[in-house]
Amino acid sequence: MTDPQTNTHAIEISVVCPVMNEEEALPRFFDTVLPLIQACCDRFELIVVNDGSTDRTLARLLETRESVPQLQVIDLSRNFGKEAALTAGLAHARGDAVIMIDADLQDPPELIPEMIACWREGYDVVTHVRSNRDGDSVIKRTTANAFYSLINTISDTEMTPNAGDYRLLARPALDAFLSLEERTRFNKGLFQWLGFREKQLFRVREDRTQGETKWNYRKLYSFAIDGITSFSSLPLKIWSWLGITLALGAFVYGISIIVRTMVYGVDQPGYASMMAVILFFNGITLIGIGIMGEYLARIFIETKRRPLYIVRKVYD
Ligand code: UDP
Ligand code: MG
Repeated sequence: MTDPQTNTHAIEISVVCPVMNEEEALPRFFDTVLPLIQACCDRFELIVVNDGSTDRTLARLLETRESVPQLQVIDLSRNFGKEAALTAGLAHARGDAVIMIDADLQDPPELIPEMIACWREGYDVVTHVRSNRDGDSVIKRTTANAFYSLINTISDTEMTPNAGDYRLLARPALDAFLSLEERTRFNKGLFQWLGFREKQLFRVREDRTQGETKWNYRKLYSFAIDGITSFSSLPLKIWSWLGITLALGAFVYGISIIVRTMVYGVDQPGYASMMAVILFFNGITLIGIGIMGEYLARIFIETKRRPLYIVRKVYD
């Protein structure tokens, strides 16, 4: 088969890996991943996206290119975050199927041949699902579980708990993914939303051995809010129901005060109960406004229609 655009032999598998400050992890990554793909596919490309690294990651990648002709390096103009970097890599992929993998090899690389085999069998999406979270702290495990049960309650898109970005997408699924134009990229949700014939492979996820995770609780919180606002409008809608319920309650309470005043005369002023009611209602109102703000801020970002990432240079 010939690729009309490049006129070279078509590529079967593209492996895409976003990296940010991974100079320590890269040697092991190449040593492990390259033989695994080479063993099951001879027309492949490896696309590594440098997401604004400040260490010697880019230099390392360019050195590796001298001995690995299948390596393509996409250098972004700054750090755009993993989701955007991954999208940049996917947009450049030419394969009939693409596999997304992290540089730290936390996702078991030995699944690569298995993913390819499933794809050859006819699956469009092959997803790695973490079979346990034993390596995570209690807080991380609890918050992750709470997040999945919340989002699966309020969203129509069913999200598989503990499935990350380590997946294979066949060309039709990849093209569908790239056609999604939203700026807030909650990948887990987007992949799920696409549908297609999916195969899940359950395997444990290792702890990071080289370098450091780029996540902290603040980022995870904002990631969770991205997920919820991208896939559910329920948080916006509950306010009208809450408002109606509270207003009805307040109305009934008001009537009871009027009746009591008429029957028993003027009551002693109740400072404490008044303060409690004012503080409670103000709190409720602020939460409501805050949630609207979360959506509004994201609508604002969408309306600007800025590109998801900017490429500084492609080393092809
Ligand atoms: N990464 C990236 N840009 C970022 C943060 C992370 O390209 O802003 C890359 C990182 O180099 C790694 C992958 O995304 O290859 C996953 O990052 P990390 O291991 O920190 O995430 P975790 O495994 O903890 O979810
Ligand atoms: Mg990692």
